[in-house]
Amino acid sequence: MIRSVLISLLALGQIAVWSGPVQAAEVSLSDRLDVLIASYPDVLSHVDGNRLILKDGGPAIVIDDGKAKSHAEALADGDVEDMLSQLYPHGPCETRPAVNFDPGRIRSQDLMTRFYGKSRKDVAGRLTTIDWFGGPLQVTTAFGVDKALVAVRDELKSLPEKLRRPALKSAGTFNWRNIAGTDRLSVHSFGAAIDLDTAYADYWRWAGGKPGNVPVYKNRMPLEIVEIFERHGFIWGGRWYHYDTMHFEYRPELIAISNAAGVDACAR
Ligand SMILES: [Zn+2]
Repeated sequence: MIRSVLISLLALGQIAVWSGPVQAAEVSLSDRLDVLIASYPDVLSHVDGNRLILKDGGPAIVIDDGKAKSHAEALADGDVEDMLSQLYPHGPCETRPAVNFDPGRIRSQDLMTRFYGKSRKDVAGRLTTIDWFGGPLQVTTAFGVDKALVAVRDELKSLPEKLRRPALKSAGTFNWRNIAGTDRLSVHSFGAAIDLDTAYADYWRWAGGKPGNVPVYKNRMPLEIVEIFERHGFIWGGRWYHYDTMHFEYRPELIAISNAAGVDACAR
């Protein structure tokens, strides 16, 4: 269990500082779980007490392990409840997250491996290749992630060339690996994340940041690109305190939950 932070957002210049939206309390864990199940219907069946029941009859997944965790502990060993604990603000506005506000960065590895596969081989069996502005990208077909990414690409084509440029070159999708500095699998391991052009990217580790203490940066990823990804179920690493602005990953449940909570990146 991670303690929810329910502090109102403050305005700092044109960018909202997020410590967690004021509406957070209005969307109960039970409601969040309903959205989670609806977002991954091929795998998830229903909730039974403190367990998520899977359609394939595999071992049920504990929802809340009952442990009080610091942010670092939640990142290292997140359960399903932790994974849904921070509300992701979306929309065509930049957000400046408060310290350790990393909506989407906490993940249950147990759940993610049930979604996409528990080994490189498992995941690889469900990959397909899509065209990304002339280059091939390997992405998972699970939950229609490949189709969602194709829809993103097609919408990006409607942006003016200057705005679209950071999206034309991908720095990678499928790559079975841990997140730098951790023993947790990156979402790239599941073929459900894409990195855009590093030439326009800011990443807290490259900037010399330490966990819980990262330098301020000036975003170079157009919000028009972010909005298109979000519309198709991808969250943006630029909304994390531990930022990674080239990174987008398929997490439609977080966008649906924030919609239910009325969370808006553009709210002032
Ligand atoms: Zn990435």
